[in-house]
Amino acid sequence: MSKTAIITGSSRGIGAAIALRLAEDGFNIALNDLNAGMFENNGIVYKCREFGVEAEIFCADVSVYDECESLVKAVKERFGTIDALINNAGITRDGLMARMPEEQYDSVIAVNQKSVFNMMKHTGNVMLRQKSGRIVNIASVAGLYGNPGQINYSASKAAVIGMTKTAAKELGSRGITCNAVAPGFIQTPMTDKLTDEQKSRMLEQVAMKRYGTVEEVAGVVSFLVSDSASYVTGQTIEISGGLSM
Ligand code: NAP
Repeated sequence: MSKTAIITGSSRGIGAAIALRLAEDGFNIALNDLNAGMFENNGIVYKCREFGVEAEIFCADVSVYDECESLVKAVKERFGTIDALINNAGITRDGLMARMPEEQYDSVIAVNQKSVFNMMKHTGNVMLRQKSGRIVNIASVAGLYGNPGQINYSASKAAVIGMTKTAAKELGSRGITCNAVAPGFIQTPMTDKLTDEQKSRMLEQVAMKRYGTVEEVAGVVSFLVSDSASYVTGQTIEISGGLSM
């Protein structure tokens, strides 16, 4: 029987690359984003199907608990099993802590952190009944090392790393693995928003002196959901071209 993967926030950027890579690996793909129009623009759903798998769009705001419950139920009804969950949806709302309004802090926590609880809880319950599953959470080097101007974002990503370890411990005995990846500076619409000065300052710290690609992140996720990673859990793998060693 085919396996199924849910990838949150997968209409573009890293999420879209992960969806395409897992489709190539043979997973049926449950794409997710806030609205279906985003997918129509870039044809990700059709590109996934070109690998001979099934792919469907499930719209939901993953920061909302009830919407995640409905999303997971709909994916289970459509595909029968949920074998991999990739918590990728994320936002940045950068600003210095001294001047950051409360709402700006809370919005990033809701989308980047609360969503991971929402999706791991509902999908985890399906996986517990299956006694198998793979969860990969997309964290960030900001959650490992901090980053000026990202008090909200680094808090959310550090939390995701802690949540990954907890889920690994709670779910491991049922054959479910949970790992995180911590990308560094990956070229996507999210990082296109940075100023040239911010970009060159970041590159100075990267051993490989280049940005990462979305395909390089997707490759590590592909490994973590594969049979080759069956004894890897609770880990955070940095994908940063040697940002810190
Ligand atoms: P991106 O291009 O901005 O894509 C993020 C995706 O998440 C978009 O499709 C977005 O939808 C979706 N999304 C946002 N809020 C959502 C919500 N409430 N519910 C469902 N979907 C939602 O970002 P990216 O660069 O690919 O980043 C993907 C992940 O990697 C994020 O978790 C990010 O923090 C992490 N990351 C990225 C980098 C990097 O260098 N790019 C580095 C480290 C970590 P809309 O299009 O509708 O907004």
